[in-house]
Amino acid sequence: MPFPPAPPVLDHGLSWQHHFAALGERFYVPMQSAPMPAPYWVGHSAALGAELGLPPQWMHSDSWLQALCGNAELEGSKPLSSVYSGHQFGVWAGQLGDGRAILLGEAAGMELQLKGAGLTPFSRMGDGRAVLRSSIREFLCSEAMHGLGIPTTRALSVVGSDMPVRRETMETAAVVTRVAPSFIRFGHFEHFCHSNQHEALKVLADYVIDRYYPACRGDSRWGGNPYIAFVAAVTERTAHMVAHWQSVGFCHGVMNTDNMSILGLTIDYGPFQFMDGYNPAHICNHSDQEGRYAFRKQPQIAYWNLFCLGQAMVPLVEDQQTLIAALETFQTIYPRALALRFAAKLGLPEGTEAPTELLESILQLLASESVDFTIFWRRLSHWTAAQDPADASVRDLFLNRDGIDAWLSSFANLHTPPDRQSASRRMLQVNPKFVLRNHLGELAIRAARQKDFGMVADLLKVLQSPCDEHPEHAAFADFPPDWAPSIEISCSS
Ligand code: AMP
Ligand code: MG
Repeated sequence: MPFPPAPPVLDHGLSWQHHFAALGERFYVPMQSAPMPAPYWVGHSAALGAELGLPPQWMHSDSWLQALCGNAELEGSKPLSSVYSGHQFGVWAGQLGDGRAILLGEAAGMELQLKGAGLTPFSRMGDGRAVLRSSIREFLCSEAMHGLGIPTTRALSVVGSDMPVRRETMETAAVVTRVAPSFIRFGHFEHFCHSNQHEALKVLADYVIDRYYPACRGDSRWGGNPYIAFVAAVTERTAHMVAHWQSVGFCHGVMNTDNMSILGLTIDYGPFQFMDGYNPAHICNHSDQEGRYAFRKQPQIAYWNLFCLGQAMVPLVEDQQTLIAALETFQTIYPRALALRFAAKLGLPEGTEAPTELLESILQLLASESVDFTIFWRRLSHWTAAQDPADASVRDLFLNRDGIDAWLSSFANLHTPPDRQSASRRMLQVNPKFVLRNHLGELAIRAARQKDFGMVADLLKVLQSPCDEHPEHAAFADFPPDWAPSIEISCSS
């Protein structure tokens, strides 16, 4: 250890619980974070701190700074790293585990985890660290997704250090404090199934059902089997999550089964991207040569991953036909969830599905010219209020004027004149003005490398309420610059 650990942080206001730790040491290894020299704040979410009940000035406190990079222990925490396995890029990868994540425990119903806090027994070839670049991206995107109403793990803070970390080039280290009701992944279930620890698999399944899916116990569908009801419930949540992703142009980039949350949360922000120009075949991850995780494939990959979860549950379930039927609900839940999301984007009242032809024709028009996805929907939302023929804001996005004019006149029939204002208002609530585009993240990262954290804070502010206007930050809603497509995002983080 290069320097002595900071004293434990007392009176931190957190009331710890340790439900996951109580499962026993088949599920994890007790861990201590490795210290990090001269830490500094890079970003913090005051909103999340308040939800957790942290003392109001935590973000100005040196002891919190030391605690949230792993230099000091929060009294009462029980640091641990959990074991899981998974399928990576469609291939069984065997044991993985928290290679750089340390779970501290649970406070206010949320688990706190330090990501990048040093080596664990599951680090394999890695160094247990995370770089500033990927930590800023994860921090901002977690809070951005939450701001969009998309289920996600949250992020409380990023703490940086000038400690060097080797990736393709030399970079510096950072720790993100992630927050979620649970960090359990599909891969946790796969681990205990495929390593023949079926008793532990049952302990895990019972734990997750009792804590997070209690309604499965009394569910009379699925032959009254709570494990199948659980698979059905995870299927439903996952379908809704992915439908929400598709409706805002979010590409996860690395949907391995170890990156799939058992709670249907978006988790493990690595090579993700919010698309600029709409391209269903878009691949955001430069490590994904074959495009397994291309934007349009996300629903079918989620379905494939759910089958991996289903397979992991086989030791607990005799009636496999019913198990398969539970998984197959994805095929009806997902399209309906997507249709509802797009109906809302088109301004239709809640519960109405989008007219298929109208929707498909606009997606085709957008794709044929790679029209900016976020800007199109936002401009359409404003346009809807008056539908003024002199207002060319939507039309100007397209070269194919006849195509968009024809589409706009069909779209206009959706809303009678008295409804237009209210439709526009509804659309402005679901078609965000701001998303975390790659170039915005990149600019914030470049400034942060110079120790200017202002853009991280400004982006956080707009992304927490991305449908508000934030006129002082209108530039964040502009078209991406010419250099944006040259940003290469890979699995390296
Ligand atoms: P990911 O692709 O980030 O989901 O990571 C896949 C696996 O590699 C997980 O088990 C991670 O904990 C582990 N991992 C990724 N990066 C590192 C690192 N720098 N050090 C240790 N383990 C890592
Ligand atoms: Mg991962």
